[in-house]
Amino acid sequence: MKQFVWLLCLVGSLSLVAQPVMKYSVDVRSNLDTIYVSLEPEEGLTGENDVFQFAATAPGTYQTMNIGRYVSDFKAFDKKGKELEVKRQSINQFKISKPELISKVTYSVAETFDTRVDELPIYLMCGSSLEKDHALLNTHVFLGYFNGLQSSPIALTIAGRQGWDVGTALKFENGVFYANSFDHAVDSPILMGKLTYADTSLSDTPIRIFTYSANDKITSTMLLKNMMDMLGAAQKFLIKLPVDQYTFLYHFEPNPPGTTGAWEHSYSSEYVMAEKDPNGAFMSAVTDIASHEFFHIVTPLNIHSEVVEKFNFVSPTPSLHLWLYEGVTEWASNMLLMRGGVISVQDYLDNSINFKIKVDEKHFDKTWSLKKIAEESFTTGAKQYANIYYRGSLVAGLLDIRLLELSEGKYGLRELILDLVDKYGKGNPVSEETFIDEVVKMTYPEIRDFFDSYVLDNQPLPHKTYLAKVGVSFREPRKKGLIITPMEDMTKDQAKMYKAWTTNMTRR
Ligand SMILES: [Zn+2]
Repeated sequence: MKQFVWLLCLVGSLSLVAQPVMKYSVDVRSNLDTIYVSLEPEEGLTGENDVFQFAATAPGTYQTMNIGRYVSDFKAFDKKGKELEVKRQSINQFKISKPELISKVTYSVAETFDTRVDELPIYLMCGSSLEKDHALLNTHVFLGYFNGLQSSPIALTIAGRQGWDVGTALKFENGVFYANSFDHAVDSPILMGKLTYADTSLSDTPIRIFTYSANDKITSTMLLKNMMDMLGAAQKFLIKLPVDQYTFLYHFEPNPPGTTGAWEHSYSSEYVMAEKDPNGAFMSAVTDIASHEFFHIVTPLNIHSEVVEKFNFVSPTPSLHLWLYEGVTEWASNMLLMRGGVISVQDYLDNSINFKIKVDEKHFDKTWSLKKIAEESFTTGAKQYANIYYRGSLVAGLLDIRLLELSEGKYGLRELILDLVDKYGKGNPVSEETFIDEVVKMTYPEIRDFFDSYVLDNQPLPHKTYLAKVGVSFREPRKKGLIITPMEDMTKDQAKMYKAWTTNMTRR
């Protein structure tokens, strides 16, 4: 763990890079729920860098955020300290006259936890919280970039209170955080304050946990202890982890002022949850979410389309493949626990199939396909969006069964995911347009029908027939609700498929 020290901007030369370094000094010690930002860009700005942009959204949130709403007092200065003319061009954009003369930019940003907005409230885990004993900082809520300089490196110092600890996946040396680009910074939240710390390693991958718990109820050591089986199961499922380090950041307070949850990043994930007594049920709910976020290192962080790879912070652009990013992730995060023996088959059937069927059927609009949920997530789809965790996960589970059926138990969705990681991976996106064709090519022609019916269209999901293929019975006795259990009298074929469905296969 590293101690936080307040340093004036002591940034060394980073002149090997082509784009000018953005040197930020940020102060989070205010009692006014405000982040004060000062930016001194390295020399090299041109007339083309005349718009300073704040994020309209951020990767993995599928939410319009318009960070510009929280920004005030935006000013730009030349070398002599003379103010340059600034015009607010739109909610997230400030246009600066003579950008080549900029020596410094300053502005204030209201924290998101304690700032009321009329519409589009920002999920807590994607926002910011400043208090006397901690600061939670998702960097897109206070950093921006000059038009054309989204890939400029960033050097950031943050003035916090004395004695604060720091948790982040960013490189942090001598009080300075370093990011390769704006995108990299946005991918790396920072938690500071009164934190507990624990670590372990998974094969050779260091895993770090930092936790803020308002009343000290939950510690990093507790979380790690509860997470160990899940991490082991994730490794068995993935064989080789596609990261060389990973950081969990936890924020617990008794009454969180908004939507709680977690947000995934390439080398970390961040959780904002209500602080409760750490009993078994609570800790297992926390671990379930951690399993989901951790699996995101695969989808979408390793397998995604060009829409995610070249992220558009100016205008939110949906990707059709939300079924993969969130649906498959949710399925895998539950399935790996079952196949890894962390939860029983019956637990899996109850919570990951039975419960999800009920939620999909009772709480969401059935006329929405997974494709439509994806396409409208930033606009009219906000209400249906959460069904990606229910219907999306159920469809992924059915795809797994269909693949196992076609391959006679030899190749399921897990094997497809592992092949996709090998074939694509970071920096090599799949095509938004032809990805489904690609999956069909890699598997079976029949899989096209599956996508047409259950991803692109909203056909009723064939739970009963599919579950029977893997020896699971689906009954709806009157009044008793749905009962889903392993069959007692499986045929030889069903028993073989049941084994394939409940076990991680050895890879070819
Ligand atoms: Zn997710």
